[in-house]
Amino acid sequence: MKLRKASLAIATGLALSLTLTACGGDSGSDDKKITIGIKFDQPGIGLKTTDGKYTGFDIDVATYVAKELGYDAKDIEWKQAPSADRETLIRNGDVDFVVASYTINDKRKAEVDFAGPYFLAHQDLMVRADDNSITKATDLNSKKLCSVTGSTPAQNVKDNLAPDADLKTYGGYSECLTGLENKAVDALTTDDAVLAGYATQKEHTGKFKLLGLKLSNEPYGIGLKKGDKELRDKINKALEKMKKDNSWDEFVKKNFGSSNYKNEPAPEITETS
Ligand code: GLU
Repeated sequence: MKLRKASLAIATGLALSLTLTACGGDSGSDDKKITIGIKFDQPGIGLKTTDGKYTGFDIDVATYVAKELGYDAKDIEWKQAPSADRETLIRNGDVDFVVASYTINDKRKAEVDFAGPYFLAHQDLMVRADDNSITKATDLNSKKLCSVTGSTPAQNVKDNLAPDADLKTYGGYSECLTGLENKAVDALTTDDAVLAGYATQKEHTGKFKLLGLKLSNEPYGIGLKKGDKELRDKINKALEKMKKDNSWDEFVKKNFGSSNYKNEPAPEITETS
């Protein structure tokens, strides 16, 4: 665009100053980008597909919010935000905000602020389809359990649910899935919404089952820099609108409709001060 304008200017002999003004205006809009932290390996929530596309409920929510903030989908730069890195990415300004199955809790609120919540999940367990030896959380005390470093479900197992479980924490849930399939671990714990996405993947059909235990509440918020009240209020406003105009229902249907996942209704926004 800039080049074409420049050559056109030379060709038509337009005054140089005029051309520069035009270019300046153009480059302003070219630079308007927003960087959003998401998950890359959670089907249904946040997934980077093999052909480089981004899909999932969090992607749809983030795209909607960005639009309300004045950014088109093409202005969004997606950045992977693994569970353990979310606070750091926000603090360092590597992302403008994070939409990544990110549970709001006090420990995290000491480091970042949240808008929302925009979704309510619950911690659950996923085991191999033919394994009947695990039916409740305390059964994990004699088992090998997998979860992800820096995630709330891993912490909840250690602190409350099954302190004697042999807990292995990896960087991402996909590594746990491989472990569950080849019997390196006996169970995988995280949010039911995340687990449902894995269980529904074609390559996993019939291999795993969710126990449906609702072991915790996991309200998902949009994480942003501590103290940026203006951004938080704007995001909350966008989330409110997203519920009102039925986009929330549409995103839920689109991303969870093909699984057996029974979602909770849209939660009330509480992160307002
Ligand atoms: N919602 C939980 C958390 O924020 C688990 C999912 C995740 O690891 O992103 O830790």
